[in-house]
Amino acid sequence: MSPELPFQTLRPWLIERFGGPVYRLALDAGSSCPNRDGSKGFGGCVYCDVEGSGTGALATGSALTAQLKAGIERIARRDDSQGVIAYFQSYSNTYVERARLREVLDTVRPFLGDPVVCVSIATRPDTLPDWAIDELVELRSGSGPGNRVDVWVELGLESASNQVLEDIRRFHTVEEFMETTTRCLDAGLECIAHAILGLPGDGREGARETARVLASSGARGVKAHNLMVLRRTQLEKEWRAGRLHVLDSETYIQWLADFVELLAPDQVLHRITGDAPVEQRLAPEWSMHTNTVRNLLAAELNLRGTRQGSAAILSSGSAGR
Ligand code: SF4
Repeated sequence: MSPELPFQTLRPWLIERFGGPVYRLALDAGSSCPNRDGSKGFGGCVYCDVEGSGTGALATGSALTAQLKAGIERIARRDDSQGVIAYFQSYSNTYVERARLREVLDTVRPFLGDPVVCVSIATRPDTLPDWAIDELVELRSGSGPGNRVDVWVELGLESASNQVLEDIRRFHTVEEFMETTTRCLDAGLECIAHAILGLPGDGREGARETARVLASSGARGVKAHNLMVLRRTQLEKEWRAGRLHVLDSETYIQWLADFVELLAPDQVLHRITGDAPVEQRLAPEWSMHTNTVRNLLAAELNLRGTRQGSAAILSSGSAGR
């Protein structure tokens, strides 16, 4: 934990882990998700913007290689760059046939070790079969000891309430999240979990319970943000009809402080605020830079005399396993 901050932030942790600053390169491999193609639902999670989640079109291997090369060149221009995190961000990246996942992962293999020091794959708890975990474990080995890399699996939990998950049309359960996280950890992969504070019907206690579940999940990293209403989402209609209220900034900081107190002390906060482009965001009206949220969160925890993990009750074999 940073000596100045009462919670774990990403940058110092990355520097310690990789020996210097590394930068994330967002990649869009295309694909879809079961909430969009009808296998679980149509229209997606209520807060998901179709276009904001990626193109939805399968990128060819050569198009992905072009994305990678352009991003690597961009990052190499930073004076302090020590490496790249190849981040397959959009949609559910393991919701594909095995051959397709291999094709996607093959695009990063030539860059493993130098400059790609980590591959991060975003997916859903219900779209990570054992064969996909096997592929990710193989990727982690690189082509030898010299280019072994980190492989992170990013999984959305969003809420620890199955009712809320159903209401927001996530269509997976808390139990699936825990089971998938355990399979990843058992295979030696690290997990980063997502949470949204202020989901309809979740409330302050729901946010606390989400933190408790994340603390016990063994996820190494956590991304949290406040619920935002974006254009072209199902939430837009609810919000325009006055049936949905989002958190004001003061309330968000209070809830975030509760949340952080309940996380495991060694979980790394990869994100503490949302970053939707202003032209897409309908609500809330406020938006704060990460540094501002970080300072406000630190001030709130200091005022309370608490810190990350100070309210966590960890069962054996939980976070930090
Ligand atoms: S948030 Fe993810 S799982 Fe939900 S609809 Fe969008 S891409 Fe699919």
